[in-house]
Amino acid sequence: MASHIAGYPRMGPKRELKFALESFWDGKSSAADLEKTAKDLRASIWKQMSDAGVSFIPSNTFSYYDQVLDTTAMVGAVPPRYGWTGGDVAFDTYFSMARGNAKQPAMEMTKWFDTNYHYIVPELGPEVKFTLSSRKVLEEYTEAKELGIETVPVLVGPFTYLSLAKPAKGVAKDFDLLGLLEDLLPVYKEVIGELKSAGAKWIQFDEPALVLDLESHKYDVFKKAYSDLAPSFGDLKLLVVTYFADLPAPAYELLTGLECVDGVGLDLVRGTKTVELIKVAGFPSSKKLFAGVVDGRNIWANDLASSLTLLGELESKLGKGNVVVSTSSSLLHTAVDLKNETKLDAELKSWLAFAAQKIVEVVSLAGALGGKKDEEFFAANASAQASRKTSPRVHNDEVKKAAAALQGSEHRRATPVADRLDEQQKHLKLPILPTTTIGSFPQTADLRRVRRDVKSKKISEEEYVTAIKSEIASVVKLQEELDIDVLVHGEPERNDMVEYFGEQLQGFAFTVNGWVQSYGSRCVKPPIIYGDVSRPKAMTVEWSSYSQSLTKRPMKGMLTGPVTILNWSFVRNDQPREKTTYQIALSIKEEVEDLEKAGIHVIQIDEAALREGLPLRKSEQAAYLNWAVHGFRITSCGVKDTTQIHTHMCYSHFNDIITAIIDMDADVITIENSRSDEKLLSVFREGVTYGAGIGPGVYDIHSPRIPDTEEMAERIRKMLAVLESKVLWVNPDCGLKTRKYGEVLPALTNMVKAAKILRAEL
Ligand code: GLN
Ligand code: ZN
Repeated sequence: MASHIAGYPRMGPKRELKFALESFWDGKSSAADLEKTAKDLRASIWKQMSDAGVSFIPSNTFSYYDQVLDTTAMVGAVPPRYGWTGGDVAFDTYFSMARGNAKQPAMEMTKWFDTNYHYIVPELGPEVKFTLSSRKVLEEYTEAKELGIETVPVLVGPFTYLSLAKPAKGVAKDFDLLGLLEDLLPVYKEVIGELKSAGAKWIQFDEPALVLDLESHKYDVFKKAYSDLAPSFGDLKLLVVTYFADLPAPAYELLTGLECVDGVGLDLVRGTKTVELIKVAGFPSSKKLFAGVVDGRNIWANDLASSLTLLGELESKLGKGNVVVSTSSSLLHTAVDLKNETKLDAELKSWLAFAAQKIVEVVSLAGALGGKKDEEFFAANASAQASRKTSPRVHNDEVKKAAAALQGSEHRRATPVADRLDEQQKHLKLPILPTTTIGSFPQTADLRRVRRDVKSKKISEEEYVTAIKSEIASVVKLQEELDIDVLVHGEPERNDMVEYFGEQLQGFAFTVNGWVQSYGSRCVKPPIIYGDVSRPKAMTVEWSSYSQSLTKRPMKGMLTGPVTILNWSFVRNDQPREKTTYQIALSIKEEVEDLEKAGIHVIQIDEAALREGLPLRKSEQAAYLNWAVHGFRITSCGVKDTTQIHTHMCYSHFNDIITAIIDMDADVITIENSRSDEKLLSVFREGVTYGAGIGPGVYDIHSPRIPDTEEMAERIRKMLAVLESKVLWVNPDCGLKTRKYGEVLPALTNMVKAAKILRAEL
């Protein structure tokens, strides 16, 4: 039986590509050095798959930055501002688009569906002239072939490519991007032709945009495009892969009905209703189903026995040889190789599979389906699955009971927010337009070293505490000098807003090399939530109490919310996400209440990642928002009216979730607002009727630029045109940890001045 891998991480088991890229960008190594590292990585990945016996090995899933940007290069859609004059898109143009150059900022990037991977957004308009301008896909195919490895070249499909694009600057916002298909397809045809001549047998088009809820005319566009492409395939077989959710029934019908499609890839992990759809709607005998049973987005070992049962069912329905065992999506979204995890114990490791291990799982499942079951491998897997089901490290009955009991209540504070704010104001005595910051202050090299040194025991615990305390003291003093109203301690003890809490909670594990690409050379290392979550002891109370003892002004306690902890971790797959959220919520709730007891009257619970967990399919969104918001209320509903709960969110696309944000019932919401558009503010207006305090960021902290007083005052004026002065807060967009003091000091000085100017005007 055949096996297929939809795509593979490109960063390397120890982030080799990251270091090669960054050294090249810094001018410390040559293009040839970078190309050599890349070539070696590709070779080792192909060899790994070929040695394992994968039947369909992908090529062109490597990228120097991003596969969507690669497509932009392939079709020659370089925005004119980069001065490209045709020919092959070389490194300088490619990286200028990705990262900007001395004269031009980078192209925009945004999240790839509901993952934490960011792609570079194509900018298209009527002027664009598509021409084949990068032969990367052909080169990779030939490169593998020269190593004796036959691969399936992978491309972002034309429909998804245009669906992810935005109108270029100066082009009407409602410009019909899909209308460009006709101009785009000739380039795809040329590529298909070249791959055919080079001997390719299969080609894979990734069309994940098909899982979205599309207006029906878009299906017609899709159909027309593929009918138009059809004659160019000839003997080359076409595999269309979708992932991240159930394919809506009309999309399923469309895809399985297209004559030029020889294989259909479906995500059977996130697509929980897809198997049912296959059974009910049927699957054409002329095509192969690439059954994505091995999870491309998580780190758990597959339950091989149950996958095999499912594959058997599918095969008996579809016919022998018509099912190809596959990954649910590209493995880009999981960690690379468990082999390099030196700090995880053997039991925990037996529960896990990173990309390298998933290859073996896919191949073993295919073998077993074909009657060649590796009994030993399956037995080891079964015993690991069994130990995970019963291990006391995973299961804590007390936590399970407490979390289950939460479902019965709404967890709402009894007093309406406007009245609570009045109560809080009686003792907080804040001026109108109060100023605050989002939490972190610049993370200096010294701070990072102190945290590293205490971990490696180079310095003692006392030395560490002294260093952190002195940093807190200086941040507090600084804020008093700046005359900020509600202070923060600056978060010097945290390297990451999720890891810091995960390390202190039960049920979390941490990897040394479990990196996942976020964008370009940037990677994140999500914690693994493997067990029921509980809080052995208070996590932030000592630091917060110390900070409060240094000042008469209110000091904000600073916590990360349950949904953000969930969304930025590898989560359990043996219980619904909502159950894990409720457990985390209970721990954060205990922390909130301990902070209150310790005399902290303002507590911020960050939910930076609430929006990104929103399911792709509309039918699932309400349920998600319901439990996500409930999780937040659980953390904060137990405090007195006089305790002020803040929350913070880092994105400006929240028009669709504004009701949910209000339903969180926080006293004050600070939110990113870097684009400062009127529409955004009018969304806040709903908050006015609701009555909570609102702090739309008055300056963008993602840039080193220092905004002047008048610019920020003007922004506040604009906000006041829409919002009542008594609900408005003045704060930056997000935490300051990535900035330098040289930028933060003047920016905050100007921010406070701006608030004072406006107070005087009121
Ligand atoms: N309190 C955090 C900080 O200031 C919030 C970070 C975030 O929203 N991403 O760093
Ligand atoms: Zn933020």
